[in-house]
Amino acid sequence: MSSTEKNEKTPVTVIGLGNMGSALAAALLEHGHPTTVWNRSAAKAGPFAERGAVVAATPEEAFAASPLIIVCVLDYDALYAVMDAAGPLAGKSLVNLTSGAPEQAAEAEARARSLGLGYLDGAIMTTPPGVGNPEMMFLYSGSAEVFETHRPALAVLGDPLYLGAEPGGASLYDVALLGLMWSAFTGWLHGTAVVTADATKATAFSDIAVRWLTNAVAGFINTYAAQVDAGRYPGDDATVDVQIAAIGHLIHAAADRGVDNALPELLKATMERASAAGHGSDSYASVIEVLRKAPR
Ligand code: NAP
Repeated sequence: MSSTEKNEKTPVTVIGLGNMGSALAAALLEHGHPTTVWNRSAAKAGPFAERGAVVAATPEEAFAASPLIIVCVLDYDALYAVMDAAGPLAGKSLVNLTSGAPEQAAEAEARARSLGLGYLDGAIMTTPPGVGNPEMMFLYSGSAEVFETHRPALAVLGDPLYLGAEPGGASLYDVALLGLMWSAFTGWLHGTAVVTADATKATAFSDIAVRWLTNAVAGFINTYAAQVDAGRYPGDDATVDVQIAAIGHLIHAAADRGVDNALPELLKATMERASAAGHGSDSYASVIEVLRKAPR
C-alpha cells in the first residue's frame, strides 16, 4: 500500500487491547488506518508497535491522537476510568464497543456530550476471530453524524448496521440476540444429548440441525414476526395445542435416555399458559402474549 493511500484513511485510536480490542486494532492496521493504541497493562501494546501502531503512554495521549476513538474495555467502570483520564475532547468521536445495558449507554452518551464528544454506542455480534469479516454484524446506535462520518473505518471491522439515535438501541438488540443464541445453544445441546444417547455423533446431528434452523426455522420466524406486528396469530400451520402434544414426545424420549428435561418442561409450561389464556388454536407466535405479561 502506498503512503498516499494510507494517509487517506482516518486515524483511529483503540483503547483496550484485550481479546476483542486486539482484534479491532489488528483489523484497522491491516486496512492501513494510522492506528494509536493504549492498554492499561502496557505489555499488550508491544505487538502492535511492531506492526506500525503508535503506542500512547496515557489515555489522554490516546484520545488526543485521533478524531475517532474506539473503546473496548471490560465494562462501563473501565470506560469511565479512561474517559475521566482524557484531556480536551471537543469535536472528536467516541465509539464505545464495550458491552453493557441500554441504560448504561444512555448515561455514557450524556457523559460524552458533556465533554464535547460525539457518541456512538456499539455491539459486536461476533467473537474476535470474526472481526474483519464483512458477514459479521456490528450494531450501532447514537449519533448518526458519527456513524456516517466514520462508516468507512467501522466497515473495516464488520458490517456496520445503524439502529437509530437512541444510544441504548445497540445494547438492547445485543442482549435480545444473546438470549436467542443461548436458547438456541441449549435447545441444540438438549437435542444432542438425546440423539447421542443412541450412539449418534454430535456432528452428524448438527449437520441436520443447522439445515433445520436455516431452511425451516428461520422461515417460521419471519412468518411469526409479521403475526406479532399484526397482533393476530392464525393457527393455520401448527397450533399451540398441537405443539404441547409434540413436546410431550421430546420429554418422553429424553426421560427414557436419562437426559435433563428442565428446558422442555419450561417450554411446555409456557405453551400451556398460552393455551390457558385462549391461544390453544393460535400459532406459536401467540406465546408472546404470555411472555409480555410476566407473572408478579
Ligand atoms: P478482555 O480480554 O478481558 O479485555 C478486557 C480489557 O479491558 C483489557 O484491555 C483490560 O485491560 C481492560 N480493562 C479492564 N478494566 C480496566 C480498567 N479499570 N481501566 C482500563 N482498562 C481496563 O475482554 P474482551 O473479550 O476483550 O472484551 C472486551 C469487551 O468487548 C467486553 O465488554 C465484552 O463484553 C465485549 N465483547 C467481547 C466479545 C468477545 O467475544 N470477546 C464479543 C462481543 C463483545 P488489561 O489488559 O490491563 O487488563
